[in-house]
Amino acid sequence: MTQYIRLIGYPLKHSISPDFQQAALNYYKLDIRYELWEIKAEGLPSAIEGLKQPQSLGANVTVPYKEKIMDFLDEIDEQASLIGAVNTIVNRNGKLVGFNTDAYGFIQALRKDGRFDPNGKLVVLIGAGGAARAVSFALLQEDIASLAITNRTASRAKELIAALKHARGEKLRTAFVALPWGSPELKEAIKNCQLIVNCTTMGLRHSAQEGQSPLTSDSISSNALVYDLVYNPSETPLLRAASKAGARTLGGLPMLVYQGAAAFGLWTGKKAPIDIMLSTAKEAVGRLQ
Ligand code: NAP
Repeated sequence: MTQYIRLIGYPLKHSISPDFQQAALNYYKLDIRYELWEIKAEGLPSAIEGLKQPQSLGANVTVPYKEKIMDFLDEIDEQASLIGAVNTIVNRNGKLVGFNTDAYGFIQALRKDGRFDPNGKLVVLIGAGGAARAVSFALLQEDIASLAITNRTASRAKELIAALKHARGEKLRTAFVALPWGSPELKEAIKNCQLIVNCTTMGLRHSAQEGQSPLTSDSISSNALVYDLVYNPSETPLLRAASKAGARTLGGLPMLVYQGAAAFGLWTGKKAPIDIMLSTAKEAVGRLQ
């Protein structure tokens, strides 16, 4: 019996997850198909029923359902509950269990591809949506020294800071602050930090923000690593500005592959063939340019 893994989201036309997930499944000669399920909100309940069928191994979940999908699941693991978003679902005999592998993917890429140890560092995060939540909780667990969050809609940055402070409890040393978009305090924090992470859609190809950068090159210090979660194009306007400033850069493709590799392990119980996934993902992005 052919089995299935689905990617649930809307819209999905530019996703490259089917390319590198299918390459990993084919590597093990598994009779499993990774398919796109472009679903409108009203179709979610019936899609969820479909995921419980015996031929379904589970799903990835992407924009705009990472938070909403949690209402439909039977169980949610601790990390995903803390983050408040699910990007991977595993079907365990008709019971759907939710995970978040974005946080793992982010840290793995930061350490391996960015060669950056976040412990004790000053970090500025731009954005306060679903990806920013996963990234900020991942950084909290790495015991960074400080996290400044800025977002176009200031209230969302403040809400995220409040959630992080609540999760931190008394134990960790990280200092948190929400800074107004474009403010002098933000400019100062950006000049002094060691890591800048873009978690907005600015710069994303085929979006209304294509060609835009949240920062100009003169605001970036050459001592910072600039990490853009956007993976298409591979050199985003922000990364171009960072290179011009003499800063090191990291794009979003390794994170995408590592989060996918962790999900692959959850569905199949097998070690993900990272190199194959990465080279397939690079080819797929190349085709989208
Ligand atoms: P989301 O929940 O929709 O959040 C979007 C974020 O972008 C919000 O902070 C939003 O600010 C901001 N934004 C949107 N338009 C803007 C504009 N014109 N100017 C300034 N800010 C703007 O999306 P998400 O799931 O967090 O994803 C964010 C980005 O991360 C996407 O590009 C996605 O592709 C990428 N991502 C990459 C990976 C990876 O593995 N590499 C994983 C997850 C996500 P407001 O709150 O003001 O609307």
